[in-house]
Amino acid sequence: MNTCKQFFLRLLFSFFILISFCTNFYAQQYIPGEIYNGRNNYTEFRPGELPLIFSAPHGGSLEPSEIPDRSYGITVTDMKTIETALAAREAVFNFTGKYPHVIISNLKRTKLDPNREIVEGAQGNQWAEQAWNEYHKFIEIAKDSVTVKFGKGLYIDFHGHGHSIKRLELGYLLSSTDLMLSDEQLNASEYINKSSLKALAAETPASFPDLIRGSKSLGTLLEERDIPAVPSSPQPDPGSGNSYFSGGYSTKRHGSRDSGVISGLQMECHYNGIRDTSGNRKRFAEKLTEILDIYFQEHLGWEGILTALQQKMQAPVQTNFVLEQNYPNPFNSSTSIRFFIPEESYITLKICNILGKEISTLASGNYSRGIYNTIWDATGQASGIYYYQIEVLSGDHEISFTKAKRLNLVK
Ligand SMILES: [Zn+2]
Repeated sequence: MNTCKQFFLRLLFSFFILISFCTNFYAQQYIPGEIYNGRNNYTEFRPGELPLIFSAPHGGSLEPSEIPDRSYGITVTDMKTIETALAAREAVFNFTGKYPHVIISNLKRTKLDPNREIVEGAQGNQWAEQAWNEYHKFIEIAKDSVTVKFGKGLYIDFHGHGHSIKRLELGYLLSSTDLMLSDEQLNASEYINKSSLKALAAETPASFPDLIRGSKSLGTLLEERDIPAVPSSPQPDPGSGNSYFSGGYSTKRHGSRDSGVISGLQMECHYNGIRDTSGNRKRFAEKLTEILDIYFQEHLGWEGILTALQQKMQAPVQTNFVLEQNYPNPFNSSTSIRFFIPEESYITLKICNILGKEISTLASGNYSRGIYNTIWDATGQASGIYYYQIEVLSGDHEISFTKAKRLNLVK
């Protein structure tokens, strides 16, 4: 065997070892597809592999005598929400071949409310406090796994409401009053910073109001599949006087309002047609999966459907600049060019002709971490090959990264 070939095989082998080590580091403790329980099965963790985390805090039915009933706060069970979250898990698995993470409280809400601060949620009982801690620890484990593997992700806290208007209430920590603002008013850092989608707002090419209730928002995607939802394009705000849940403790703690790269929301489901029968839960779960697939493409910057994430899972957290191939290519009038900035940088993105002459500047200035989408309108340009080039300047104004790709204008 020649040296070159030997070297190549050795390299391939060490690469394989490295990959196995990286994936096993997490898998040794929590294997996707298995079920892990906290003390006395009060809490339950079903680890997954996707950048998607579901939780169900209010659907439990266990009433152990060692935990006295909570003496204050809301104690109503969100019926069939564990079943709804598990139906969503199954639908995502059927669609992708991979599991999302699921965290469940099996205790009846009269005994524990993990969607409240521990004082109100566990009311001083040591076993309730332990279950409360285990529940949130499981969510943290899931979040750490997603953060390490993907660098971003989505958390959905499943609930069931009994409000008179039958619609999904999506809680992003924006109040009814906040949502009554115009898109222009809502598009302000004050509202972005108080939202549980704060990290996603920095990631998506969509504006903040679009992310919350635009054409590719969760609410609008649900409405398009005959599931009424607020906020959405048809229902931009709950309407004055109507009950609306804007998100509780878990959405605040585990969404991205205060820190982290995982954005989250509280999904309050009405009963009839969504949670009530196994057939309806399955249909809802399938629609939700389809919607999440679109949502991931639109807002989280992953090109393909959720299936494509299987390949992404082996990749480390993105820390390099990325300049994607323009789309469409070839094109005949305009084309879009996307790029990823891992940390705040001064960048320029220019179009040049084949002789190196600058034709147009598409982007220039300071950009924070995120994925950006620019459009080149080639009206008035001749057919032929052009180049687009990104240049990144480091703090001392030296070029720290540069990359060029060609595009093909055909008229
Ligand atoms: Zn609830």
